[in-house]
Amino acid sequence: MIILDGLGDRPVIALNNQTPLQAANTPVMDKLLAKGSCGLIDPLSAGFPVDTHTGSAALMGVTRKDLLKLTRGPVEAAGVGVDMRSGDVLLRANFATVHDDGETILDRRAGRITRGTRELAEALQDIDCGEGIIACVYAATHHRAVVRLRGENLSPDISNTDPCHLNDNFKILTCHALDASNTMAHKTAKALNRFTQISHARLKIHTLNKSARLPANALLTRGAGLAFNPENLLNRLGLRTAVISGERTLHGLARLLGFEVIENPGFTATADTDLSAKFKAVNEALEKHDLVYLHIKATDIFSHSQDAQGKCDYLEVIDKAMEVIAADNLVIAISADHSTDSNTGNHCGDPVPSLLYAPGCRVDSIQHFSETGCSQGGMGRIRASGLFFSLLDHMGRLPNYNPYDATFLDA
Ligand SMILES: [Zn+2]
Repeated sequence: MIILDGLGDRPVIALNNQTPLQAANTPVMDKLLAKGSCGLIDPLSAGFPVDTHTGSAALMGVTRKDLLKLTRGPVEAAGVGVDMRSGDVLLRANFATVHDDGETILDRRAGRITRGTRELAEALQDIDCGEGIIACVYAATHHRAVVRLRGENLSPDISNTDPCHLNDNFKILTCHALDASNTMAHKTAKALNRFTQISHARLKIHTLNKSARLPANALLTRGAGLAFNPENLLNRLGLRTAVISGERTLHGLARLLGFEVIENPGFTATADTDLSAKFKAVNEALEKHDLVYLHIKATDIFSHSQDAQGKCDYLEVIDKAMEVIAADNLVIAISADHSTDSNTGNHCGDPVPSLLYAPGCRVDSIQHFSETGCSQGGMGRIRASGLFFSLLDHMGRLPNYNPYDATFLDA
């Protein structure tokens, strides 16, 4: 299963009103399509934009019920190896720079700090947030971090303290319960507000922050979620699954689901990722695994930068690198976690172009892999779970209904 992050797009004037995939010359993918079929998939619900972790999890057999519960906090926490127990609340966090008043944000990412966050996080261990709730901070890549709240009766139904605004001149938001009647959420929000104050007090006097132009003197949080293990059909079926990606979100998702993560310093989450090494790793991983997910991030990044031509060119580079996959005996799906509109730079709810090839599979009449072609393809318009089931079915690994309960049927 090849996940080209943010693959789906909308027509762009600079590409003669074609999408980047439509405009790209992709002979390798087109050859697969000529022996297979294509269609449009909806990651969660038709028309609804999702994030990478939701769209990718949908292609990995996470049930719909769990997809709705799966927030970024626990995914990022799994990505940095946080010790998680049932009942813990995990939040995604940014080291940020705030004014001396402790709340006016000067830079949401502390100047995209690259060093010292591990030491800063060390000063933020076992923070007593009252009512027996203890907070710990774990540094991730650059300005990113994870906050873990541990205590009795915590709830993840709390608001973000990160205003998430492009303009950095904002205040840290006060955390509150998303549902006014949820007393556990009130308690959790109060603890998080206490954490925000204490962490600022400790960070502002930290020696590493003394001479910094943009001191990392505060933490902004979002995406709260409970530690949990999503149900997964691949594990239930006993399939050996691996994930090849340069992105921490995908690593976190894979660890949360119990899949093997195949890493390499050359695998990055940008266009400089070593594509030929990634595809080589796919071939190697297939010797020991039943199912291998390959995730390529840069397609999405070009869209976020509103660089449609760059995305189009990069799709041609991916296509060329894909040549090394010995397709004939494999079942191959190419899809995405969501669409990203290169006109706006935002994720959008348009369905994702997807193709499926398997020895002896049905063949449709579409010749070029694109959003337009997929709208007329043999798979029609289906949910991500449909593509996932088709892949397993073609692998001969999807038993009839009986061996497992209906949990997975709406996956
Ligand atoms: Zn994405």
